[in-house]
Order: sequence, then structure tokens, then C-alpha cells
Amino acid sequence: MIINKKLTILGSGSAGLTAAIYAARANLEPLVIQGLQAGGQLTITSDVENFPGFPNGILGPELMEEMHKQAERFGTQFIYDNAESVDLSQRPFKIKTSSDEIYTDTLIIGTGASAKLLGLPSESKLMGHGVSACATCDGFFFRDKEVFVVGGGDTALEEATFLTRFASKVTVIHRRDSFRASAIMAKRAQSNPKVHFILDSVVEDILDVEQGQVTAVRIRNLKTNEVSEHAADGIFIAIGHKPNTELFAGQLELTENGYIKTHGVKTSVKGVFAAGDVQDELYRQAITAAGTGCMAALEAQWLIENEAEEGGKGEGKSEAKHACTH
Ligand code: NDP
Repeated sequence: MIINKKLTILGSGSAGLTAAIYAARANLEPLVIQGLQAGGQLTITSDVENFPGFPNGILGPELMEEMHKQAERFGTQFIYDNAESVDLSQRPFKIKTSSDEIYTDTLIIGTGASAKLLGLPSESKLMGHGVSACATCDGFFFRDKEVFVVGGGDTALEEATFLTRFASKVTVIHRRDSFRASAIMAKRAQSNPKVHFILDSVVEDILDVEQGQVTAVRIRNLKTNEVSEHAADGIFIAIGHKPNTELFAGQLELTENGYIKTHGVKTSVKGVFAAGDVQDELYRQAITAAGTGCMAALEAQWLIENEAEEGGKGEGKSEAKHACTH
């Protein structure tokens, strides 16, 4: 089916849905292409205790469901599919899904970021059966168990410290002998008696696929090449995140780590805005994603209004037009 839109939003996490709420309330009748993991990273989280407005916390999936309902209430249209290709070479921009061809005057990209994995076959087979990429989500299941955390950045050491609330022993496996993590985070983990370290080492395999659950990790020391096996109940992969920007490579300016380069929320292509983790390597929070989603919707609205006033797709009258959007 061919669909024509003033505004299309890619992604249905906190950034995309906030953009949809603002754009729908501005009568832009936005279309959200949800992606097949609708709701984004919060749907694989349990309690969210730092999103303002929920003094007793809220479950991640529930928060996303509420945001979805709020966007729907004001007339957002949703397509439950992935964008397969995007052509940003001219306006209207063209987006293809498995069954639709969408032409859109403006585009907000909120495709987020995904946890990086080691790439071992056993890792994917045992995901959810002792292998996890989210200590906040799954730590609770490892009460009095022995777990491993892979990585040497802030996420790994923060997760290692967090996991000591549940696990009896937490061992960090890092491929170097110095940490990428901030000094304070490293010190906090190092001074925790439950946290142990295996340095200059990588995970060679996770056992036991045949039993369908994690029973041990096989580790190779990169300096001595020695391989050792350690009993384990769980392993948390915390080696960073990868922005979901494959569709835009060669079409938008990206940072050296593959995130979309933005000024505010404007990308290198006029009419294309980016919000949330796909353009944010630093804060990566639900609330910052929501904030930039709001900014992107306002920018799209102002551009559309300016161009309508000008009667064409020329330069907007004011790049910083302010409007009351309450
Ligand atoms: P980082 O990219 O900072 O760290 C990733 C870690 O994983 C590095 O130690 C890296 O090793 C290791 N690694 C990467 N790939 C592999 C691999 N294939 N096998 C083994 N090890 C691997 O990611 P983080 O998620 O830790 O942090 C991202 C950003 O978020 C940072 O800016 C961080 O400061 C910030 N952050 C801040 C927090 C806070 O302040 N509370 C909490 C969490 C994150 P190597 O060092 O050798 O490259």
C-alpha cells in the first residue's frame, strides 16, 4: 500500500512514542513504524524507578504500553513492522516496509541501540537461560548464585556491583588489565568483597547448551593462552551498545561509533530528526530519550508550518520558531 504522511516516526521506544504524542497533539497525524521489538529497550526491563511521576516505580513494559495508548489517543497511526529501506536523497523521503511504501515530508528516527553480544553460538542459545544482557532486568533471578560479568566499562562494573545485591559471588571478566570504566566506578567494584576479577581474559565458550542452561564458562587468558573452566549459574554481557543505524549509513552523517550526528535533534539532512539512544552515546536514559523525542516533534512541526507558510519546500522562515504546544 502507498501511504503519504507529513511525519513518520521510526521506532516505538520512549523517544518515538513521545515524539508521536507531541506530533499527534499538533494535528500532524503521525505514522509510527514500530519495529518488530515494539516498545524498545524498556520492554526488556523490569522496574523503572527513575522515570518522574511514578513514586513507586513502574514496570518497563507497562510504561511503554501507557505511552503507546497516549500516542494512540491523539490519533497516531501504527504499523507493526520493520522499515526495510529508507531513501533520504530527496523529499518526500521514501520508506519501505514488507508491505507498504511510505512517502513522508519529515522523518524522526528513534530506532534506539541494542546491547552488543560476544557472538558465541552458545551465547545466543542460552540467552534467557542464564545468559543476559541486562543485570537490572535479570539480576533478581540469581539470588545466592555465582555469576560472571563480561566487560571493563562503566556498565560492566556498575552491573557487577548491582548484582552483589542478589548473587553470592560476581566475577568480572575483562580482556585487558586496566578498566575503561571511570575511576569511581572501578573503585566501588574493587572494594566490594563479593566482586572478583579475571583480567586479560576472554570468554571462549559458555556451557552447557545440551542441558539448556548455564553451568560454566570457559575462559582464555590472552597473555598465557591458558584455558580454564569455572562453574557459573549466569553470565551478563556488558560490552556496550550498538546504535541501530544500518539503514542510514551513507545517507546521514554518523559518529565514529555509528551514532547519528545531531545538532540538537537535527541531522545532516533537512527534514530528518533523530531522538533517543540512536543519537545519544552518553545519557541513554528513558527520560532523555523522551526529552529528545519531544524536541524532534517540535522541530518537525515548525519545519512543516514554516514550509506551509512559504508555500513550498524552501528554507523555513525561522529555524527557531517558537510555538505554544501545551
Ligand atoms: P564501553 O564501550 O564504555 O565499554 C565496553 C567494555 O566492553 C570495554 O571495557 C571493552 O573493552 C569491552 N568490550 C567491548 N567489546 C568486547 C568484546 N567483544 N569482548 C570483550 N570485551 C569487550 O560501554 P559501556 O556500556 O560500559 O558504557 C557506555 C557509555 O555509558 C560510557 O560513556 C559510560 O561511561 C557510560 N555509562 C555511565 C554510567 C554511569 O556513569 N553511571 C553507567 C553505565 C554507562 P576495552 O576496554 O578493552 O575496549
